[in-house]
Order: sequence, then C-alpha cells, then structure tokens
Amino acid sequence: MRACLAFIIPLFLLQGCQTSRAVSFQYHDATYGGETYKLSDKTSVLFLVDGLSSEILKTSLRNENAPAIADAFSLTKSARFSYGRAAFPSLTFPNITSILTGQSIDQHPVLGNRILIDDKIVNFENVTNWQTLARLLQRKTMFYKLAQDSQSSVSYSYAFTGGATAFQWTSPESAISYLEDDYASIDAQTLSSLQNLLTETAPSRWPRFIFVHLIGVDATAHAYGPKDERVQTYLHALDQRLRPIFQILNYPGGAQTVSNRQVNYALTADHGFRSTHAHAPLSEIVARMNRKIRVIEDNRVAPVYIDKPISDQERIDLAHALLDVPHVQWAALKRENGIDLLRKNGDHARITFAQTAPACQPGERAARFEWLERKGEASWPALKQQDRNVAAVEFTCLSDFDLATSSDDDSYIVPALADYFAHPRAPDLIFIPEDGADFAEGYAGNHGGLTREEMLVPVLTKDVDIIRGVHPTSDLLRTMGVDGL
Ligand SMILES: [Zn+2]
Repeated sequence: MRACLAFIIPLFLLQGCQTSRAVSFQYHDATYGGETYKLSDKTSVLFLVDGLSSEILKTSLRNENAPAIADAFSLTKSARFSYGRAAFPSLTFPNITSILTGQSIDQHPVLGNRILIDDKIVNFENVTNWQTLARLLQRKTMFYKLAQDSQSSVSYSYAFTGGATAFQWTSPESAISYLEDDYASIDAQTLSSLQNLLTETAPSRWPRFIFVHLIGVDATAHAYGPKDERVQTYLHALDQRLRPIFQILNYPGGAQTVSNRQVNYALTADHGFRSTHAHAPLSEIVARMNRKIRVIEDNRVAPVYIDKPISDQERIDLAHALLDVPHVQWAALKRENGIDLLRKNGDHARITFAQTAPACQPGERAARFEWLERKGEASWPALKQQDRNVAAVEFTCLSDFDLATSSDDDSYIVPALADYFAHPRAPDLIFIPEDGADFAEGYAGNHGGLTREEMLVPVLTKDVDIIRGVHPTSDLLRTMGVDGL
C-alpha cells in the first residue's frame, strides 16, 4: 500500500490501489460463464527478474540471502544452477520479446531497447513508446498464441501485455513517475496482485500461463552497480515476497488439499550486469565528423547506420577510426559471408558461415570462429577455437556453440552475433565499449554488451525437464511446455 501513499495524482491513487485485485477481477470476468476459454489442467509461471545476473544470484545464495528462491528451486550455498544465453544485445526489450515469442532476435522487430523506425530512434525505455511496442508485437507473443487456442494467460508486465486474458494496467503518465520513483512498490504490487489472483481463483481455473516481470533488481543495479550491498538487500526483500507465492504454486488449493493441477515454474533474467565507471563518447565524436552516420547509443552497445552504401573496406576503415574513441573496445560488422570482430589493440577475429551446412537442426546455420590476428593474451573472447590454421577449424552448428559454452569457453558469442547480424534491419557496424564503460552516462552498472556477466543468465526451474547445457533463453517457454499448441 506504500505505493498509494506515495502519489498525489487522484486518478493514479484510484488505479494504483485497485491494482492488487484488479487483475484477479479482470481474469474472473474474462473467463467465467462463457465458452471463450478452455480450462486447462496445467499452469506455467515464468518469473523474470530483470537484470538478475548470475553473479548477483551466486552472491545471494552463498550468503543465504535468497532462502525462498533457494528452497523453491532446491539450490544450495554452492550456488550451482543452469545458465541460459541471452539474446545479444543484452538489453531488456529484445530479450523479453525473444522469451515471449520463442524467437531468436533476427525473427522479431525488437532489435534493441532503441531501434530505428522510419529513420527515427524509438526508445522503448520511454513509456510513451509502449504503444508502438504493442503494435510491433501484435499476434507474435505467447499470449496471442494461447488466446488463439482459447487458452488463458495473465501478464504482470507493464510493457508486454498484448493478447493476455488479463494484465496489469496503468496510465502512461503515472507509469513514468512510478517507474522513476518507486520500483520497489511496483514489484510489491505485482506480487500481491499475483497472490490475490492465485488465491481468489480456484486452482482448476488458473491461467495456462502467467508472466511476472520484476524490475527492482535492475533499477538498483543501475543506480549503485551490481556488486553493491543494496542490490542484495533488495533481492532479499523480493525473495521474502516470493515465498508465499512459491508455497501456493507448490500446493494449489492449500497444503491439506490434494490437487490434480500440474504446475511448473521458472525464474530467469533478461540480461546480466557490469559495473560501469567510464563513458565512451562515441556520438560526441561522430557528431564532429563530416559524415552522415546514425549512432544509436544503447547502454553498452552502439549500433551504427550509414546513410549511403559504402564498400566493405570503407566500413572497416571507419571501424578502425572509431575504435580510437576513448573506452571503445570492439567493433563488429557483417562482411561477405561472415562477421568481422575488430579490437582496439589490433586483434581481428572472424566468424564465417558455411555455404553448405553440415547436419544441423532444420533452418539452423553452421559457422566457424577463427582469429586472423591475435596480439598477446586477450581476456575476451576466450574462445577455444583459436587455431590460426583456417583449414583446421571445423564448421559447427550454431546451437553447438551455445552447448560448448563453459566457465572457460565463450563460444556463445558466435550464435549471439550470428543471430543479431541475421536481422533484416541489422546495422552497418556495432561498437562495444570496454568492460567497465558504457555509452550512457550516470549509471554505476549497465548492460547491453557481450561479456559473460551480461549474456549468461540464471535459469532456475521447478518441475521442468531441463536439457543440460547452455541454451538461448528464447527456448525456455518451449522447454516449460507452454509452446507446442
Ligand atoms: Zn537495465
């Protein structure tokens, strides 16, 4: 209820205070007394803790700071859990879109938090652009797929609601102040609303799918950096609010009741985090150049669009020139049948795609990674396939690069970049800053880049047959059995 006291806009007071039961009512109204929705004997719940990096969770488990999460997913202080690979760029909007559509980034329109539409930069971090987002995602997400099959879903996510049977709603004006001022009470409101839905609805009528987007960890890690104690304090508070919900999901109808309801749930993140203390002034420098170049600074990645076609060599020259910008570290560009990765120190790696694919999944490509130039010990990417002898490097199916990923193997970068540059609206070039830098200013923590800390997120599951190894998080709903209607 703290949220309601914090605001003086009467309209919002009304909406904000009602929200904790509004979703339950809305769901009830939509599903009772009609033939519109089929009853299902299954419920799947996906908790998406925005910005929960593997490191933040590990620290929490080691310090017994998240006991409800540890209990729910049978985790110990050793902090061993499965990893998922986020879509690149490691940003919220592309990743939630990938998770909710089950598609890799090249298959959907949300290529970044900021994308070019009709030559204008549209920033989805700005609430006023959520209608555009809703339009882009129409009929694409799991909510629509379920609705098409007369199955119900509920979305606790302000930005991703289209197609859901019931969802949390707030006006854009109040959402702006809400998001900026009091993310802790948004999460509290979300979880109390979810708890109401689950207790006010008979388990036999629970939705087929519930999506729960929790935003406070991300906001705290941006403000103070992912290693700050306040992130752990926040996660602990969130964990305590999750405990009763896990309890209800574990015992639908109460601990004394035998229920036939099949419930599974998972907790994951859209991306991880880096501590950031430096700012790479890319757009400031491009603005002084005498060329028509669009730089979209998107946290820890900067896609660049060039307004007229230029040769591959000119693009490589431009990449080298802009790698001189302070705190810029990597450039990547699509060239011929592959992707070039150039580093400030002169390192040059190349991903090449096979013309005739070896036996991969239908539609899946094969690639190989090789260093054309490698100066000294690069801390990243520590890919195992470092052979300079091109002929010796085998083509490998993209999903096998994910599976090869381990604590000393960064192979996930190959499918991540392959998917990104396969997008029909992929930029001419991208730049990635040093590990401790970003293109924004004023954040103690940020994300968007390609490091393990940003790209490999925890995947915790309950009653889900998890396939061993690292998989894209866009596979998670399928793995949970929500897809495949
Ligand atoms: Zn964020």
